[in-house]
Amino acid sequence: MRLDVISIFPEYLAPLELSLIGKARQDGLLRLEVHNLRDFASDRHRTVDDTPYGGGAGMVMKPEPWALALEALLGRGGAADPEPGAKPVLIVPAPAGEVFTQRIAEELSAQDHLVFACGRYEGIDERVLDWAQEHFTVRPMSLGDYVLNGGEVAVLAMVEAIARLLPGVVGNPESLVEESHQDGLLEYPVYTKPSSWRGADVPETLLSGNHAKIARFRRDQQLLRTAARRPDLLRGLEVSGLNRADLEL
Ligand code: SAM
Repeated sequence: MRLDVISIFPEYLAPLELSLIGKARQDGLLRLEVHNLRDFASDRHRTVDDTPYGGGAGMVMKPEPWALALEALLGRGGAADPEPGAKPVLIVPAPAGEVFTQRIAEELSAQDHLVFACGRYEGIDERVLDWAQEHFTVRPMSLGDYVLNGGEVAVLAMVEAIARLLPGVVGNPESLVEESHQDGLLEYPVYTKPSSWRGADVPETLLSGNHAKIARFRRDQQLLRTAARRPDLLRGLEVSGLNRADLEL
């Protein structure tokens, strides 16, 4: 998979050199490049923002540096454009975007090329998103219903969620199967040694060695935890995702 990130703070993306994502890059599973938007500004101050039309507080990111940066990724003036029908996906982090979920992470992990456009200030001139539709599948994406200072933190989160789904990135693929949000529920609580710690004991069932009982206990815990913390997830779950025993809980 190829990933390109455009930002005015490329150093913000340095954590993507660490841990499993860093190793996946070294192993050639991911090709990730970070580009400085200011390299595409035309004046000597490398300006990328200006005052908003209509007035109001803050600055808005100018369209031309974005168009030049995105065109450079499409290989204008050198390498060939992508095959027709194989548009890269342009992900634009924005609190006004669609909320990023595990389902979307799965969907995006099947793409060949993702481009992330990190906004700052009050965001990017809206015309860039319209213009980009000719060359990219444009997806404004929100991390959640709160406001960050810039898109970089959102990109760190999204890249990690997407890249860990690629074959070979997480050592044991089994560990991806039982995670929160994988089947629409939150994960059950987990424990390790010692079995008794500061007066708190690990639930007996987990020490029983009875795999069927352990599976039932964990499923019950998933349902109870999801009902307590995220009842909205249960409401959204199709009945087929629940079995008879779940419904009788
Ligand atoms: N004026 C914008 C609004 O109210 O929708 C917020 C701009 S915010 C201060 C600057 C940048 O941070 C955004 O362009 C976006 O890239 C990023 N950002 C802020 N909150 C975000 C969120 N919840 N999810 C994804 N990106 C976010």
